[in-house]
Formats: sequence, structure tokens, C-alpha cells
Amino acid sequence: MAAENSTGRTAIVTGGASGIGLAIARRLAHDGANVGVFDLDADAAEAAAAKIRAEGGAALAVPVDVADRARIDRGVAQVRDAYGPVGILVNNAGREGFQAFLDITEETWENLLRVNLTGTFHCCQAVLPDMIAARWGRIVNISSSSTHGGQPFMTHYVASKSGVVGLTKSLALEFGPKGITVNTIPPGFIDTPMTRRNEAKGLLGGTVDHHASLTPVRRAGLPEDIAAATAFLVSDEAGYITGQIFGVNGGRNT
Ligand code: NAP
Repeated sequence: MAAENSTGRTAIVTGGASGIGLAIARRLAHDGANVGVFDLDADAAEAAAAKIRAEGGAALAVPVDVADRARIDRGVAQVRDAYGPVGILVNNAGREGFQAFLDITEETWENLLRVNLTGTFHCCQAVLPDMIAARWGRIVNISSSSTHGGQPFMTHYVASKSGVVGLTKSLALEFGPKGITVNTIPPGFIDTPMTRRNEAKGLLGGTVDHHASLTPVRRAGLPEDIAAATAFLVSDEAGYITGQIFGVNGGRNT
């Protein structure tokens, strides 16, 4: 992968303080992008941005709840002021949910969709004007491998992530003529703080090691696996790839 592909680009990574988002933010900065790290927790976002700067990259921490459009708009403006118009957006912030379908309240349902699906909608709307003006843009939406076949006790989560897949495909068609690509990566079993929290709560149906042993490549995915795929999709050379579901799952979903 040519590292110079993202040089000088302005990128925003949501949920960039932990797990997959942190790995993506570090990778894009390594590839030369100036990165806005959007995350709920101001201290965690600052720690991530500081880590990137210590590695020689450019990063700005921006505390943002992706469910809050006004905060997103302010955050995008902050990143634009610091680094120039936004060319790359990675919608990664997400919440998981494990609950029997009949126990899911409307409030729980709406809260999860507000982050995973509506948050993606808001962030796309907030940055697209910059991309349209530049006639160049790259959006990568992190969905979930659970959208391939469904997942019991995760109906709200899978519905939200399936919405992200549909949003991705439709946006790709609408904005392809403007030089903007939109793709989705559905990660499959990545070893992150979210995964370890779920392991500790007994929600995974086995340990991380057990799932790794069932995975065709015989390991759990790493956040860096998703970062590598993202780095390619946001590069110039991926300009003919849009509207795609780019699975990164060790062969778990074929
Ligand atoms: P993670 O370690 O929990 O990281 C997610 C980050 O997003 C956290 O820093 C979290 O902040 C932040 N966040 C949550 N809600 C937010 C909001 N409303 N606004 C801004 N930031 C918010 O999780 P991960 O495993 O890296 O997951 C990243 C994405 O990949 C998620 O969308 C997840 O659904 C998806 N995914 C992961 C896997 C996997 O195997 N790990 C598989 C499929 C899909 P707090 O820590 O403060 O809550």
C-alpha cells in the first residue's frame, strides 16, 4: 500500500479513541493524513491523539457524540479549521447490544439506532459538502459481519448495522458522479476492548481463543486488519471501488 496515498488529506475517524477506530486513526496518520479523532470521552480522545502525535502523525482530539448533530457540526468545523476541508470520513463509532427481542424496549431500540445508524447519517451529511466541493471524497462505514446472516439476541444491533450497509450502497450511487466513494467494512470477530468486555460478561458464546480456533485463519482479527483495509479503500487507487461490502473476517463469512 503506498503510504503517500493519504498525505495531506484531512480525515475524521469516529470512535477513534479505542479498538478498531484507534487503529484506523493511527494508520491514516501514519499514511500522512491529518486526523480528527472523534470520540465520546474527551480524555480518551486526547490520549489517542497524543499517541498519534508521539508517533509522528498529526491528530486533533474532538469530543463528539455521534448522536448529536450540533456537536458533530462543531467538531467538523474544528477539524476543518485545523487541517482544511475533510476528504476522508470513517464512521466507526458504535454500540453493541445483547438482549432477547421481546425484552427490547422502544427506548433501547432507538438509542442504539441513534448511534450506529443515525450517527453515520449525520456524519456523512456533515462532511459531504467538503467532498462535493473538492470533487473527491472517501467514506468508509464500519458495519458488522453479523449483517451477513443475522445474530440472535442482537436484533437491534444487526438491524442498525444492516441499515449502515443500505445507506452505504445508496450513498455510493448518489455521490459516485461527484468523485466520492462510499464502502462498508463488516468486521468479523476482532479482538478489541468491546470484544473483551463481551467475553468477560459471557456474551460471546465462548472465549476469544475458542472463536479464534474456529476461524479459518485460526486467529482473532486485529484492529490493524480493519485499519489496513480502510487505508486501501480511502486511497486514490481505490477510486473504482464503491458501494462494496469489503469483508475482513478471517474467512468466517464467505
Ligand atoms: P470499542 O473498543 O468499544 O470502541 C468503540 C469506540 O466508539 C469507543 O471509544 C466508544 O467510546 C466510541 N463510541 C461509542 N459510542 C459513541 C458515540 N455515540 N459517539 C462517539 N463515539 C462513540 O469497539 P470496537 O470493537 O473497536 O468497535 C468499533 C466498531 O466496529 C463498532 O461500530 C462495532 O460495532 C464494529 N464492530 C466490531 C466488531 C468486533 O469484533 N470488535 C465486529 C463487528 C463490528 P466509549 O468507550 O467511551 O463508549
